[in-house]
Amino acid sequence: MTSIDLDALVVGAGVSGLTTAICLAEAGLRVQIWAAESPERTTSYAAGAMWGPYLVEPVGRVRVW
Ligand SMILES: Cc1cc2nc3c(=O)[nH]c(=O)nc-3n(C[C@H](O)[C@H](O)[C@H](O)COP(=O)(O)OP(=O)(O)OC[C@H]3O[C@@H](n4cnc5c(N)ncnc54)[C@H](O)[C@@H]3O)c2cc1C
Repeated sequence: MTSIDLDALVVGAGVSGLTTAICLAEAGLRVQIWAAESPERTTSYAAGAMWGPYLVEPVGRVRVW
């Protein structure tokens, strides 16, 4: 794919870059990812990647959100 064929170039292949690229591709854009390191060598690959409410208020509403 040449740069002329691209709609977007995403820099980075961690969770931020890959998620952005997938969202853009699902929206119909022609996307290419460029990264200094492959996904297996990112922080994202090694990190826990868990999410949950922590020290946020009001607890009852946060759980619904
Ligand atoms: C031990 C640990 C545990 C964690 N646990 C959690 C958790 O439980 N829940 C949570 O939400 N978060 C957690 N985090 C944080 C989370 O992992 C990071 O915030 C997240 O992975 C960052 O993703 P990212 O895509 O922004 O960056 P990265 O995963 O670091 O990816 C960066 C990408 O950009 C590329 N890049 C960087 N600079 C350049 C450049 N100049 N040119 C080209 N490419 C470049 C890299 O090669 C790589 O591909 C944890 C972090 C650590 C270290």
